Amino acid sequence: MTLTVLEPATARSMAEIPEATPEDVDRAVERARAAFPAWSAVAPSDRARLLLRLADAIEAELEPLALLEARNAGHPLASARGEIGMVAATFRYYAGGVERNLGDTIPVAGGVAMTFREPLGVVGLITPWNFPLPIASWKLAPALAAGNCAILKPAELTPLTAVELERIALQAGIPEGVLQVLVGPGRTVGQRMVEHPGIAKIGFTGSTAVGAGIQRTAADTIKRVTLELGGKSANVVFADADLEAAAASAPGAVFDNAGQDCCARSRILVQRSAVDRFLELLEPAVTGFSVGDPLQDGIAMGPLISASHREKVASFVDDDAQVAFRGSAPEGEGFWFPPTVLAPVDPSARAATEEIFGPVVAVIPFDDEADAIRLANDSIYGLSGSVWTENGGRALRVARAIETGVISINSNSSVRVSTPFGGFKQSGIGRELGPHALEAYSELKTVYYATGA
Ligand code: NAD
Repeated sequence: MTLTVLEPATARSMAEIPEATPEDVDRAVERARAAFPAWSAVAPSDRARLLLRLADAIEAELEPLALLEARNAGHPLASARGEIGMVAATFRYYAGGVERNLGDTIPVAGGVAMTFREPLGVVGLITPWNFPLPIASWKLAPALAAGNCAILKPAELTPLTAVELERIALQAGIPEGVLQVLVGPGRTVGQRMVEHPGIAKIGFTGSTAVGAGIQRTAADTIKRVTLELGGKSANVVFADADLEAAAASAPGAVFDNAGQDCCARSRILVQRSAVDRFLELLEPAVTGFSVGDPLQDGIAMGPLISASHREKVASFVDDDAQVAFRGSAPEGEGFWFPPTVLAPVDPSARAATEEIFGPVVAVIPFDDEADAIRLANDSIYGLSGSVWTENGGRALRVARAIETGVISINSNSSVRVSTPFGGFKQSGIGRELGPHALEAYSELKTVYYATGA
């Protein structure tokens, strides 16, 4: 069987690649288990050097990788270059962690205990289509740094850069069997990875519904799981905020990657007295958001990933809320959708409660600080978010009170290689990035050494 990979800006095929089967998972696990003893025994300084070499090799191929990602995922080329740069930075960051894998020494009666962080063995990594290579690297880099062997299953829609990464890793000297990529459907290949008794952990990023199924299946073999799931993040704008800055930043916070971002601030909560002024400032920023061919300079937003996804996104606009204003998008081939602002939206409307994963944002008025916190927390998700206010005490109070894994004050940033990232509530379990991810790919062991009386 082969898989046809589409270019979403043209809706045409850009590659045909062989599709893996569940039996390929079994074979990959065997290869990974065979590679594990030697890989986990590589001296930390040598493993660090190999990961640094991999980072350099990715950077050396930055331009072709960025072009491939831009075409396959529909990302503006400039964004894709930044993303591939982040992939290299992620391997470099965790290369730095290999030699800082420290334990404790604990004096106890009759001897001394010490702790070690041991690798888990073979880990299965399952990733979504929205940021293909960065999300893969957030899992792969700490997994390999901690001494594990990894099997990566990229999303069927955007597998091309992962296939390239496997080649680059081998060329950079990562031993055979340590990093394997299997391209295939989630319901067969992914499912087999989650069931396989030879895989110790699943690192998953994707939808909350699939994540819940993975957690259920993983329970049978007590597999460890890290789940990075959906979001419905709030961008909270108080009347005392720098409204110009908040409005200028808001479109990028939800329309970057055509809204196909788990951190998309797809709810803008605005204090009622500032709603009119905020919308007045927001409108030109939205209508000026350039949508078009991701390979052209100056484009801020490309197409959606697929025709079926575009249909799903459109259903939120036909449905229950009113379009205040929207930008424009190319006509014709490609899965285009214009940046769209719905305002004012009732907090119970579908557009205010469900993850849209497209360039549609709901503006929801609030009365006071307590109301803002209540509305922000009125969601099954808790992944990201922002607070805009010039009152420092309020900024920190609200940031602490919102149930979310990452929140920015007077900014819309979410992800950095060196800081933990992950969700509260149904946005996930565990953290990626930052130093914590190394712990997520290792097991804590206590060794007791009897010293005698
Ligand atoms: P998805 O859940 O449909 O698929 C994700 C991956 O899981 C794919 O590789 C797919 O093949 C695989 N899969 C599907 N069914 C499976 C099964 N039964 N067993 C094992 N694997 C299976 O998600 P998607 O549509 O690719 O991505 C969009 C979703 O991902 C959104 O909900 C978004 O919020 C979420 N996401 C979350 C984060 C985060 O860090 N929290 C980041 C990006 C995307």
